[in-house]
Amino acid sequence: MKHRIVVLGAGYAGAFAAGNLARRLSPADTEITVVNAVPDFVERMRLHQLAVGQDVTFRRLADVFAGTGVRLRLARVTGIDPGRRTVAVTGEEGDDELTYDTLLYTLGSSADHHGVPGVAEHAFDVTGRSSALRLRERLAGLGEGGTVLVVGEGLTGIETATEIAESRPDLSVALAARGEPGAWLSPKARRHLRQAFDRLGITVHEHTAIEAVEPTRAIAADGMSIAADVTVWSAGFAVHPLAAAAGLEVAGTGQIVVDRTMRSVSHPDVYAAGDCAYAIGDNGRPLPMSCASAGLTNMQATAAIIARLTGTEVPVTGLKYHGNHISLGRRDAIFQMVDGGIRSKSWYLGGRTAARLKSGVLKGAGWGIVHPTFGMPKRRRRLAAAPYPAGVKAAA
Ligand SMILES: Cc1cc2nc3c(=O)[nH]c(=O)nc-3n(C[C@H](O)[C@H](O)[C@H](O)COP(=O)(O)OP(=O)(O)OC[C@H]3O[C@@H](n4cnc5c(N)ncnc54)[C@H](O)[C@@H]3O)c2cc1C
Repeated sequence: MKHRIVVLGAGYAGAFAAGNLARRLSPADTEITVVNAVPDFVERMRLHQLAVGQDVTFRRLADVFAGTGVRLRLARVTGIDPGRRTVAVTGEEGDDELTYDTLLYTLGSSADHHGVPGVAEHAFDVTGRSSALRLRERLAGLGEGGTVLVVGEGLTGIETATEIAESRPDLSVALAARGEPGAWLSPKARRHLRQAFDRLGITVHEHTAIEAVEPTRAIAADGMSIAADVTVWSAGFAVHPLAAAAGLEVAGTGQIVVDRTMRSVSHPDVYAAGDCAYAIGDNGRPLPMSCASAGLTNMQATAAIIARLTGTEVPVTGLKYHGNHISLGRRDAIFQMVDGGIRSKSWYLGGRTAARLKSGVLKGAGWGIVHPTFGMPKRRRRLAAAPYPAGVKAAA
């Protein structure tokens, strides 16, 4: 009987991992199924661009996996029973149950509302395609002088505020930050960021925690009211409660606690990667939810799954976070390198060169999904020559 690998989610981590596994394991011995809620590979890193009306197209997953042998199941995951090794799904084909021998959980994340009243009812976000499209429609209907408040000084908040301000100079855009936006950046990069806000006419409300969102305004902790025809909530990501509900060991964030090989510490036939994995990086700290971390964790998970199936030594791949790359509209960006402790180095790259580099990174991430073994040493791709005590062969 074939070894059944089920991958939940086909975002940056899941799509890459599934393609990688399919290319490196023999289809005679393994069956790889990917379950994803939508038919496209949604590049979340471009969703703020989609929200402001730019022409952003996504590859169809059927094309991404064409010729790889990966079975694509378009359905929503509704539950996991790790005891029976089953996943409950619902989709156009109705309700179903999939059985796995190995599960790779990569369901990503969505907006973290932090329980703030009014966010769910009145705020917009850019964490998923449907919510970004909802914002796109709202912005398109907003006339000159309309007010937009972006809440959150993290990378997504900064990227969203600058993108809206650049593409809609007729709107009044503000950013509410709990602390100082870009406080983690080097002093020069922080100055660059402040200049970009000034150039784009973005009003920054520092040390302002939003505690309620209403249809036309947001209220801060000190009682200040900020007028906003549109409030965009960018105050962090939250993971799906599915893993916790299934009884997998999770961290306080709801992320699945994994060991160094991305294997669940409570359920050895379950692996996690991307935003929903609570993975400790090489510096001893949890990896941040990011595309970069999704790349690192899915590579490690894939390597471990293949090694354990083929009876070879589990390789340790790097879990080192190198830096943040923040777009500031289409013509400006900041690339900030960080050290091992995720402290910003004094050097940063800014301006058009950084913007071009970021555009290349985005293209590269999309391209890499279709070519997941590109650049991999032949030795690691060509596992077919090795002995396979577990009876599962790598692809020739
Ligand atoms: C606007 C924006 C800009 C960003 N910019 C950057 C950046 O510049 N650099 C960076 O490193 N990171 C960036 N990020 C963060 C990055 O996009 C995420 O960290 C990354 O997408 C995580 O990858 P993932 O595979 O874990 O999850 P995702 O890419 O979110 O993939 C999860 C997949 O699971 C599917 N799914 C979810 N729930 C279900 C379900 N119940 N059933 C079936 N399928 C389901 C989804 O449809 C999706 O395909 C940005 C995020 C946003 C929103």
